[in-house]
Amino acid sequence: MKTTTREIVDLSHPLVSGKVYSCAGHPGFKASCISHVADGAFATVHSLSLATHTGTHLDAPFHFFTDGTRVDKLDLGLLTAAPAVVADLRAKQPRERITWADLQRYEGRMRPGVALLVCTGWSKNWGQAHYSAHPYLDPTAAERILATGVRVVVVDTMSPDLVTDEEGDCGVFHRAWLGKGGIIVENVNNLERLLAMDPEKIRVGLTPLNLVDCDGSPIRAVAWAEE
Ligand SMILES: [Zn+2]
Repeated sequence: MKTTTREIVDLSHPLVSGKVYSCAGHPGFKASCISHVADGAFATVHSLSLATHTGTHLDAPFHFFTDGTRVDKLDLGLLTAAPAVVADLRAKQPRERITWADLQRYEGRMRPGVALLVCTGWSKNWGQAHYSAHPYLDPTAAERILATGVRVVVVDTMSPDLVTDEEGDCGVFHRAWLGKGGIIVENVNNLERLLAMDPEKIRVGLTPLNLVDCDGSPIRAVAWAEE
């Protein structure tokens, strides 16, 4: 229900019970109604079943490192109304590598407190069998991005890493990024819509739930143009 005129871009995929893609070994998303006013109950309430990495979510350093920051201890200043740089990488092909050379032209606007949004346009494949065949970030780019002071990287794919069924390490970028205290946001939607905005004015909200001692959290990711 829209009661304001502010334009907010919704960067989260909808969570439809029983229909959310999840990584192998992760539980799916389920919302079960446990009481309903239509049945005479005092109020309507659902019980939820999901993982810390369900749908649009963030990864805290604790996801890969036992001594890494847990989700309840993340710096909310990095995730709340943060200035954003949107890199347009829509020309990348399935499973094509994104290198620092692709990102370097955005370097001038990367600085501490800024979130880097990697727009591949892949979010249109959400829910499809080939969703995991997305472009991915070269692990060596992590070091260069971190050197600018950026600590939050946001992808419109299931992972910043190459995901394959074959033998191989699908966590190289994750370790390079989370190992330096960075935060990863995955499965975001609608990044293309931000490309039409004034790049200096884009702000994002990526706030996690206050899940004590957890490794990640679903988020309602949003963006807007500052007035
Ligand atoms: Zn994750």
